[in-house]
Amino acid sequence: MSSDNFFDQLLDDESDLKDEQVIVDCMQHFDRDGDGTLNLRELCTLTDELFIDENGVAYEFPVRMCAEVFYAFDTDRDGKINMEEFKELWFNVIVPVIKPRTALIAIDVQNDFIDGSLAIRNCPAGQEGYEVVPVINDLLDTVPFNYVFYTYDWHPEDHVSFIDNVHLRNFHESCSVPHDEAKIFDTVIFEGPPPIEQKLWPRHCVQNSWGSELHSELKIADNATFIYKGTCSDIDSYSAFWDNQKLSQTNLAEELRSRGVTDVFVSGLATEYCVGYTALHALEHGYRTILVEDACRGVDVKDIEETKRKLVERHGAIVTSDKVRNMVLGRNRRHDLGYRTAMLAVNSKKF
Ligand SMILES: [Zn+2]
Repeated sequence: MSSDNFFDQLLDDESDLKDEQVIVDCMQHFDRDGDGTLNLRELCTLTDELFIDENGVAYEFPVRMCAEVFYAFDTDRDGKINMEEFKELWFNVIVPVIKPRTALIAIDVQNDFIDGSLAIRNCPAGQEGYEVVPVINDLLDTVPFNYVFYTYDWHPEDHVSFIDNVHLRNFHESCSVPHDEAKIFDTVIFEGPPPIEQKLWPRHCVQNSWGSELHSELKIADNATFIYKGTCSDIDSYSAFWDNQKLSQTNLAEELRSRGVTDVFVSGLATEYCVGYTALHALEHGYRTILVEDACRGVDVKDIEETKRKLVERHGAIVTSDKVRNMVLGRNRRHDLGYRTAMLAVNSKKF
């Protein structure tokens, strides 16, 4: 496929993005007045070619946002992006945008959430948990993710989230639910210390039980990594990164960091709990984070919408699975993810 889009051409040519000459060529291509630097107008031309969808149509990237990126990278404040500044833009923004290192995380696609004690279909939204399986399988078959992770909700018998374990722990005095009246889906406060708010669920995903196994039809990618969460008796963990009190982390952050992952695609069960918290924490860890919405099913429609709102507000992206392949290939380059990449690079002073 030939293209007059500069960045698509780099992908077509399989250019080495670390090659000094490639960087110089890019700078010169957009330096329309030939003064050896980029002005704001020239950077806007660059971002118009950088942020395009899979049909080559530019995302609307407002001049105001382009200017924010421009002034953030114009570190000597002379109103121009010189070659040195352009290299920072290149490695911190342009490279991850056109050549992301991607991970798919399939979250808690386990028997108990599909056909077992906490089957999503019995929750208020009435969604069918099984439906994520063919969507995730199709992604695994058609999208060349660099890495694939599977998470397990993996609870000991005496786990704090189980309704039938309520008698094992005292409630904090601030808890409005009487101890002997607590029921499934109530949110209570355990005494601790520290006092811990906890939603009560049916017993589910007990370690090494049928309910905690991944669904038998879910495809397992070669070289997949498995993450276990909720393994501590006294603290629940919706996120595959931190527990609900942020007292401890799984190895997920380190596994992603050591592989140089830039983009995290989240899928699985349930949208506003383990998927949503994992996505929000991925954003906190600085990953470009994408919720694949038709690869998720959730518990309560109102809470699902609230989770999506939070993700978008923090410059995560929500897409359908048919968009994922071109995003992974760097052919669909979203401006919202790119803008956040630029701002995070600046704020974390990577340069
Ligand atoms: Zn659980």
